Amino acid sequence: MTAIEKHTINVTAIRSQFPILSRNINGKPLVYLDNGATTQKPQRVIDAITQYYANENANIHRGVHTLSQLGTDAYEATREKVRAFIGAKSTHEIIFTKGTTDSINLVAATFGRQNIQAGESILISAMEHHSNIVPWQMLCEEKGAKLNVIPINDKGEIIYSEYLKLLETKPKLLSVVYVSNALGTINPIKEMIADAHSFGVPVLVDGAQAIQHLAVDVQDLDADFFVFSGHKMYGPTGVGILFGKEVLLNAMPPYQGGGDMIKTVSFAKTEYNDLPFKFEAGTPNIEACICLGKAIDFLNEIGLEAIAEYEHSLLTYATEKLQNIEGIQFVGTATEKSSVISFNLEGIHPYDVGVILDKMGIAVRTGHHCTQPLMAFFQIPGTVRASFACYNKFEEVDKLVEGLTKVKKMFA
Ligand code: PLP
Repeated sequence: MTAIEKHTINVTAIRSQFPILSRNINGKPLVYLDNGATTQKPQRVIDAITQYYANENANIHRGVHTLSQLGTDAYEATREKVRAFIGAKSTHEIIFTKGTTDSINLVAATFGRQNIQAGESILISAMEHHSNIVPWQMLCEEKGAKLNVIPINDKGEIIYSEYLKLLETKPKLLSVVYVSNALGTINPIKEMIADAHSFGVPVLVDGAQAIQHLAVDVQDLDADFFVFSGHKMYGPTGVGILFGKEVLLNAMPPYQGGGDMIKTVSFAKTEYNDLPFKFEAGTPNIEACICLGKAIDFLNEIGLEAIAEYEHSLLTYATEKLQNIEGIQFVGTATEKSSVISFNLEGIHPYDVGVILDKMGIAVRTGHHCTQPLMAFFQIPGTVRASFACYNKFEEVDKLVEGLTKVKKMFA
């Protein structure tokens, strides 16, 4: 059976839910292959934003009037939906943030400041996004601590023996990406967490590129913190999640001060609110939080197992087709990969490839993908990245191949 015949999901039905996918770009039907940066939004998410402002808008948690109650109920119902989606024990463990970056900064500024002292270390990997490097670097500078980096091999996989050696140095935290946005590598996260725990090291998992592709169960993984963004999982921008084990979140100081995160305030002393509100100061992005729930409904209806299987067929098909292009160099060839293909065409700058593909309606990402240290490891300025979502078609892979063939001809 070919990759095309094997898939189980109804891509036509899925695509019909995404109005943007039927538009033209530069006179050509849009081929959207920049899903690693952000996914498109299904109609139900778009409608829910309008519906919220047209019918339900009010501030939450503070009002006795009907609209405020409705908004609060919808907001808290979404928290429960997120809890169930990632298999957390309690809604106390689900904190609404602005996104992955915000979630990591929250942990760095609270757990990090509280637990990491001069001379101690934090462990990350060589394939981290800048948002899982810079907050730790800032913390290390502040505290006089050290940032250690797990090396990777030429395929873009963690060198596990080196990881185990670094664990022996007893870092105060391992903060590591589940799925690399630049390479597609799927790290053996469950095994990594188990090994970290055997050395008493807590683990933050950057799940920004995992949550929309793989079924996640934070209890099964035994993750201490798990973070992700709404906009990469068919939801709106401006909302993300920090999952943290309740015992850890309870022990952490608040991140920001303000309304909602307090129980009582006097000029002498403030008593902080219980979880999860302790970490949600001020008016949140209410409509985005509520609409994230609609994105979760979308994902649940198809099922993450079916999505993973379909996207894997797309990846296999695209890898087979692309490798026939002469002079293509793949960057990131891990055995376990998500639906991301990073590559360069010999002698052609990735930026030029991206600009010409855009003229054909094909949206890919070019550049360093916010992973400059990783690009330095591969000694390249950047790559062209095609990242697939569950609405992408095999024909779109063919269009990418045709487009790249034209690019090559233009530069020949
Ligand atoms: N981590 C990874 C692996 C990512 O791919 C991204 C975004 O591309 C981020 C973190 C940052 O996400 P956001 O910009 O939504 O905060």
